[in-house]
Amino acid sequence: MLAYQHAYHAGNFADVHKHLGLFRLVQALERKASAISFVDTHAGRGIYPLAATETQKLGEYRQGVERVWQCRRRFEASSPLGDWVQRLATLQNGAELGCYPGSPWWLGEALRPQDRLTLFELHPGEHRFLAEQRLAGRAGIYRRQADGLAGLRKLVPVSTPRLCVLIDPSYERKAEYDEVVETLCQVMRKVRHAVVLVWYPLLPAGRHQTMLANLRAAGIPKLWRSELTLREPAAERGMYGSGLLLLNPPWQLDQELDQAFGELAPMLAEGASHRSEWWVGENH
Ligand code: SAM
Repeated sequence: MLAYQHAYHAGNFADVHKHLGLFRLVQALERKASAISFVDTHAGRGIYPLAATETQKLGEYRQGVERVWQCRRRFEASSPLGDWVQRLATLQNGAELGCYPGSPWWLGEALRPQDRLTLFELHPGEHRFLAEQRLAGRAGIYRRQADGLAGLRKLVPVSTPRLCVLIDPSYERKAEYDEVVETLCQVMRKVRHAVVLVWYPLLPAGRHQTMLANLRAAGIPKLWRSELTLREPAAERGMYGSGLLLLNPPWQLDQELDQAFGELAPMLAEGASHRSEWWVGENH
């Protein structure tokens, strides 16, 4: 199957939500020196030129990264959004927003000599793009053309003291929601302190609710979730919001992200909102 191509959606509001969360998560983890294994189970291409035909076709970045870019002079340099935009600016040619980086770039840029990064991408074409990016040849970065969830299950436990995972499927198949739950349960059994960021879409069908309920029922402790809602859910198809689930977040990151996403929401659409919620399992 594998019909999904992220280039059609690159830089949209959900990417900004996810990558701002990922950026600050990595920064928080890197306050300690001990080595981290990073795993990106659904990597995509790495860098997306915004002028590409696919990206222009839907133009979703206009309601995402472009809005944030236009507001950038308003941000305090030391704020999460200010810091994120500054990092984004290092990839641009001057004041023009020409490309948008995907998760492999955000993770690859943050990699320290003691860390490693494994990128899974199953789609042969997308994997080829990833292989052509300059970050792919860097020390400590490994690429696999393989199923990301199965690959992650095989990788754990890791040899480094810490593990940080991004799980970002396209959810083209309904079964992916259950596969995410199953994989998280297996990973948490082997690495209890693993820090995992899961992205999920808010769709009218509401399958994410079942996924969250199944995770709670499975006894996964310390779950924080953030949902950025762009508009009211309509009866028809279409993503109305973006969800992030964070397992074992570093101390105070929840508060920091809550504030940053609260500032981000009104930049993206009139009436857009953000909410977050903790779920701490029994015995924790
Ligand atoms: N994580 C990327 C980012 O934040 O920039 C975006 C990833 S996109 C939502 C999902 C990607 O997963 C697509 O590139 C798709 O080809 C890939 N994919 C689909 N099924 C996969 C699987 N079973 N294992 C690994 N990658 C898969």
